[in-house]
Amino acid sequence: MEYRDLLEQLIRAHGPSGDEEDVCQVIQRNVPATVDEVTVDVMGNLIVHQKGNGPKVMLAAHMDSVGIIVTHIEKNGFLRFGALGGLEPKAIYQAPVRFRNGVGGVIAVNENKAEKEFKLTDLYLDIGAADETEARNLVAVGDTAVFAAPILKNGTRLISPCLDNRAGCVALLAVMQQVKNPVNDLYFVFTAQEEVGLRGAKPVSWSLEPDYALVVDVTCPDDVPGALHEGTTAVGKGTAIKVMDHSMIAHLAMVAQLSRLADEIGITVQKDLLKVGGTDAGAVHVSRSGVLTGGVSIPCRYTHTPTELIDQTDLEACVELIRAFCESELVRR
Ligand SMILES: [Zn+2]
Repeated sequence: MEYRDLLEQLIRAHGPSGDEEDVCQVIQRNVPATVDEVTVDVMGNLIVHQKGNGPKVMLAAHMDSVGIIVTHIEKNGFLRFGALGGLEPKAIYQAPVRFRNGVGGVIAVNENKAEKEFKLTDLYLDIGAADETEARNLVAVGDTAVFAAPILKNGTRLISPCLDNRAGCVALLAVMQQVKNPVNDLYFVFTAQEEVGLRGAKPVSWSLEPDYALVVDVTCPDDVPGALHEGTTAVGKGTAIKVMDHSMIAHLAMVAQLSRLADEIGITVQKDLLKVGGTDAGAVHVSRSGVLTGGVSIPCRYTHTPTELIDQTDLEACVELIRAFCESELVRR
């Protein structure tokens, strides 16, 4: 399948919030030669410019994933850690993780904690070290680790860590390959530190000062047993047009434009309303005097766990919709 090799490379690259360089390098290696300029800013955002004469459009996908950072190495060789991004203690208990240097570990919980009540501070990391000295030979305080789990495939369904948001990064790279002579002035931005508070998106949207922005990220669906109706989408039912989440109410003109384009190119789309969480769009749309911002989402079950699940056809539809937006006639704001 078309995007899978690239997606797998990106998933395997080490890229927790604040330490996105490996992911950035994989993306840079896959940027087509036809682009006009590639830069990396102080925050670590990767900006790819494809010049056009129309309005300035910022297309954004975050490169970072959730992860953990070592805060203490204890005498018995066990590690304590802080969270990089939103981690749910019950969802990451017994998750396997991997440091950049290849050292593996498993997240475990203090045995005296009943499962119902444990918090992140009750978790520790076991890297199998016999004592503090052995642990310090393997990792240091400040080292980061990400979920390490296999990439599983059933037909078009993928189960893997880091689909949030390497799937979005793949989507932007695919659009970049496909848009040869852009009518609009396109800035593909692969942002840093989204998971810790949209920190890369803020300065880059300020410096680019776009007329329009389109943010691609995963969204939590409402299609599993006992779903709490916090979202509105279903995996495999098409890409989703962002209407709102906890960080943004999408501009109605963007929702209308994306819906019209989906009709024109003949793809089925869903509406994405999410009562919790947010995306880089939350920072971009309130940049400077405001940016006309929309979002395109890929439904993803079990986000921020080692076993996120998406359907590749949703990703492919997302590429089609973003490409249609890039090629559409936009009014300079
Ligand atoms: Zn995300």
